[in-house]
Amino acid sequence: MADKDASLAQEAAQLRTQLNKWRDEYYTRDQPSVTDAEYDKQYRRLEEIEGAHPEFVTPDSPTQQVGDTTLPELGKVPHEQPMLSMGDVFSLDELRDWNDRMAENIATKPEYNVELKIDGLSLSLVYQGGKLVQGSTRGNGRIGEDVTANVRTITDIPQTLPEALDIEVRGECYMPKAAFAKLNAAREAQGLETFANPRNAAAGSLRQLDPKITGDRQLATFMYTVVDPERYNLTTQDEAIAFMAKLGFATNQSSEKLADISQIDDYIERYTGSRDQLTFGIDGIVLKVNDLATQAELGATVKVPRWEIAYKFPPEESATIVHDIEWTI
Ligand code: NAD
Repeated sequence: MADKDASLAQEAAQLRTQLNKWRDEYYTRDQPSVTDAEYDKQYRRLEEIEGAHPEFVTPDSPTQQVGDTTLPELGKVPHEQPMLSMGDVFSLDELRDWNDRMAENIATKPEYNVELKIDGLSLSLVYQGGKLVQGSTRGNGRIGEDVTANVRTITDIPQTLPEALDIEVRGECYMPKAAFAKLNAAREAQGLETFANPRNAAAGSLRQLDPKITGDRQLATFMYTVVDPERYNLTTQDEAIAFMAKLGFATNQSSEKLADISQIDDYIERYTGSRDQLTFGIDGIVLKVNDLATQAELGATVKVPRWEIAYKFPPEESATIVHDIEWTI
């Protein structure tokens, strides 16, 4: 191996070790020690090296894995259909390139359901005969954590559906900003460490052994995916969201069907400007090819669906990390 390649291989190995340590802090312990922007920067560098040198990719690379290990204290739930991560872009130019690639791969002009990227953690809910029977986290994408008792305490999740359906829906569990401020104020008053951000607070609150603690944390949800949508005659993502709303799930009302990149730019600009006024945190916007049959044709890589992309907002300057958050499980 040439000297330059050897030094790149070494850099990739160092990045893998560093990123995997940060992933453990973030996903398993809900206690990040660096900002998302820092993580994303180093992750991008690793992707760049692996892109130029596919022979450096190892199975334990963070580019090949969704999330991280599951907490041993919680029961395990296999996901029949994997819960994946999402590709991301950090500039409007990159978003345009992604749209151009979609246009090359789709026979008609792509239409997107454009949604807010809610800053929480993924949640799967399973109903049998219209009754809630299971709630689970994404975990490593194939095996999640059983949080059924905990999701029963979240007030916007229906225990029973208006129809006796067998259905799995997925979405985001988050902590509203007001609940986050209240929780951190209470913890400060008690001399406890505060949570770094609403995302970590939501994850730490959902992944509890005692459902009563989850119940006190005022978590909320926005559901955005119907698994096996063809079983319910759904053909588009916006129909899937309307269907879930009709079944009584909390869905986000800010989604829009857009096809022109200029309209998408406007949407991004609007929410970049107004995100502080929302009652929940968002860290970007998501473009999803609206037609579900086209989604199925495009499929997924080992880690991300090809038919959706996250545009991540630039980091907020005030972003800081609070160290030594108490792990409360
Ligand atoms: P992600 O959070 O970037 O995006 C995928 C997730 O977005 C989905 O799993 C889903 O839960 C969520 N989501 C929110 N709104 C959605 C919507 N409308 N439709 C579909 N999905 C929606 O990906 P990830 O794999 O969960 O996490 C990777 C990111 O986590 C990194 O880019 C980084 O920002 C952060 N991270 C930070 C650290 C750290 O140490 N600070 C470590 C690891 C990861």
